[in-house]
Amino acid sequence: MPLASRLNPQQRRAAEHPPGDGPLLVIAGAGSGKTMTLASRLAWLVQQGADPQRVLLLTFSRRAAAEMARRAGRLLHEALRLPARTAPPTLPWCGTFHGVAARLLREEAPRLGLAGGFTVIDRADAQDLMALARQSLGLAESERRFPLAPTCLAIHSRAANTGRPLHELLLASHPWCLEHESELQRLFAAFTQAKLQQQSLDFDDLLLGWWHVMRTPALAARIGARFDHVLVDEVQDINQLQADLLHALAGQGCRLTAVGDDAQAIYGFRGADVRHVLSFPQRFTPPACVVTLERNYRSTPQVLQASNAVIARAAERFTKTLWTERAAGLLPRLITVQDEAAQARGVADAVLAQREAGLALKRQAVLFRAAQHSAALELELVRRGVPFVKFGGLRFLEAAHVKDVLAVLRWADNPRSRLAALRSARLVPGMGPASVRRLLDHEGPLAEYKPPAAAATPWHALRSLLEQLRGPEARWPEDLARVVAWYQPHLERLHDDARVRLADLAQLTQIAAGHASRERFVTELTLDPPEASSMEAGPPQRDEDYLVLSTIHSAKGQEWNAVHVLDVVDGCIPADLAAGSAAEIEEERRLLYVAMTRARDELSLWVPQRFHLTQQRALGGRHVYALRSRFVDESMLAHFELVQPTAPEPGPDGVVDAGPVLLDLAAALRGTLP
Ligand code: ATP
Ligand code: MG
Repeated sequence: MPLASRLNPQQRRAAEHPPGDGPLLVIAGAGSGKTMTLASRLAWLVQQGADPQRVLLLTFSRRAAAEMARRAGRLLHEALRLPARTAPPTLPWCGTFHGVAARLLREEAPRLGLAGGFTVIDRADAQDLMALARQSLGLAESERRFPLAPTCLAIHSRAANTGRPLHELLLASHPWCLEHESELQRLFAAFTQAKLQQQSLDFDDLLLGWWHVMRTPALAARIGARFDHVLVDEVQDINQLQADLLHALAGQGCRLTAVGDDAQAIYGFRGADVRHVLSFPQRFTPPACVVTLERNYRSTPQVLQASNAVIARAAERFTKTLWTERAAGLLPRLITVQDEAAQARGVADAVLAQREAGLALKRQAVLFRAAQHSAALELELVRRGVPFVKFGGLRFLEAAHVKDVLAVLRWADNPRSRLAALRSARLVPGMGPASVRRLLDHEGPLAEYKPPAAAATPWHALRSLLEQLRGPEARWPEDLARVVAWYQPHLERLHDDARVRLADLAQLTQIAAGHASRERFVTELTLDPPEASSMEAGPPQRDEDYLVLSTIHSAKGQEWNAVHVLDVVDGCIPADLAAGSAAEIEEERRLLYVAMTRARDELSLWVPQRFHLTQQRALGGRHVYALRSRFVDESMLAHFELVQPTAPEPGPDGVVDAGPVLLDLAAALRGTLP
C-alpha cells in the first residue's frame, strides 16, 4: 500500500498493529514521526474498514486535531485513490480531553441528572466563584492568613486531577496550608455547591464528570459503544484522571493507540505525570504492545546533537537518544547579546535576512518561556512592519470586552449562572452593587425585576435582548451580531480604545460563523480559545506570510526550518530559580528540549546579558544581570557556534556597562558551587 512505503519498519509496525492484538503505545523522541505514525494509523484503520465517525482522536488542542485529520485525509486520498475533488472523511470526534468531555456530558446530560444547558466556565471564572465562596464563609477575614482564591483553586484542581487525598497533597506541595485543612474542605464543598446551583462546570468538573460516567456501568457501556478506536497524541502530558479515562474506554472495548515522548513532558505543573505513560502498558491484560522509534526525520545532525546533549543531563529518562540520516547542516548558534532590546533587533535582523535568502516567514518561529518575554520583539516587528501571529499567552478570551459579550450569551443559555448575570448586569449604567445583588437574588421572570429608576431604559434594552436570545427567533450566528450591537454603546462608554476592541469583536463574529450552535460556540471557545494575534498588525490573512511567535508550551508537536529561542538564561529557563523543586527544574529542562527540537535546519539560542524582570514579585520591574541557562553548560558549548557581542556599548549613564565582566565573574563563581 502506498501509505506504508513511506514509513520505516517500526513506524509501519505501529501503523498496522492489528487492533485485535490489544492496546498500542508508541514511545519515542522528538521528530521521530509519532504524530505522522498516528495519522498513518488512522488512515490505515479507515482503509481496513473502520468508520471515521466512530474514531475518537484526542490531542492537546483543536488545532492539533485538525492538523492530524488533514494529514490522515491526505494519506487516505492516496491510499483509497479518491478522486481529487472529493473531501476526505470527516472526523466528528476529535479534540481535547476537555472538549470531548463537554460534548459527551451534554449529550448524556438527561441520564446524568445534569441540565443540558450547563455552562462551562474558564479558570478565571472558577477563581471568581472560589473567591465568592471564600468570602461567604468568612474565611477572608480569618485571623490566620487564609490562602488566597488562586491558591485554593490550584489546590482544588490538583486534588481533582491527581485523585490524591487533600491531606497528602497539602503535605507534598502546600505544607503551609496544612493548618487550614478543615476550612479548605468546607470551602471546596461550598465551591462545588455554588457550581451546582448555577449549573456551571469548570474544566476539572468536565474530566471528573466523564470519569463518573465511566464508573457507572450502564453509562460507560453507552460511551464505549460510540467508539471503536481511540487515538491519543502527546500522551506524556496526561494526568491521573485522563489515564483512568483511557483505561476505562479500553475496558469498554475501544481499541487504544497512544503516542508520546517522556522527554517532552511539560505539564507537570497542571498535575500531569509522565509515569502514567510508563506504567501504561502494564495496566492492560495482556499488556499493551510498545513500539519505540529512534530515527529522527526532522532535524540536522547538528541540531539533534545539541538537543540530545541538553536532554542527556535529565535526571530520569526512558526514551533513547535519537539519530538521523539527514545531511550535515550548520551548528546551532548560541548568541550572547547586551540586553533584550539587542535581542529583539538581532532576531528581527536574522528573520528578515532569512526571508531575503528565500525562507518564508512562516517557516521560521520565535519561541519563549512565557508570553510576556516577546514584548520587546513584538514592538520591533511592528516597527519594521513584519507581520506575525502569536500563539499562547494572554488569550483573546481574557480580554474584558470579549468576556462581556460571552457573559450575555451564557446568561441567555443558562439563566441560573450568577457569574454571567453579574457580569452582564454590571454593564448596565445606573445599576449599583445593591441593585445587581437584588437582581441575582431575584426569582421568577426577569420582567418582574424592578431596576432603579436611573437604569430603567438601559436595563430594558438588556432584558429585551435576553428575551430575544431565549425566544423562538434566536438564530446562530445572528445572535452574536445582536449582542455586539447591544454592547457597542457600552463598549464606547467604558473603554477609550473602543475601536481596537471592536475589531476583536468582529473577529469573534467571524469565528462564530464556524460553529454549529450558540452553545457549541460558547463551550468550545471557553475550552480551546483562539490564540491571541498581534496588536496592531491585525490577524494576517490565511494566505499571507507571517512569522510565528509562540510560547514553548504552545509550540508542542510543531516544526519550523529556522527557530529562535529567546532568553535562554537562568530566571527564564528555568523560570524561577529560588522556588523550583528538583522536579520543576527537570520540567524546565525538558521545556528547553522541546523548544530546540522544533528546528529542522537552523537553531539560535539567544542569551541577553541583562533582562527586565516584570514579575509580580518585582513590582514595576527591574533589570537583572542574567547568566546563560544552566541547561547549556560548558561541556555542551562544543555543539554550538558561539556568537559574542561586539565591543560593549556605553550604558544609559554613559559609563561602560560592567555587565559582561560581572557575568564572567558570576559564571566563574558558579563553577565552584555545588
Ligand atoms: P514531536 O515529538 O515533536 O511531536 P513527532 O515524533 O510527532 O515529533 P512528526 O511531527 O510526526 O514527529 O514528524 C517529524 C517530521 O518527520 C515531519 O516533518 C514528518 O513528515 C517527518 N517524517 C516522519 N516519519 C517520516 C518517514 N518515515 N519518512 C520521511 N519523513 C518522515
Ligand atoms: Mg508529534
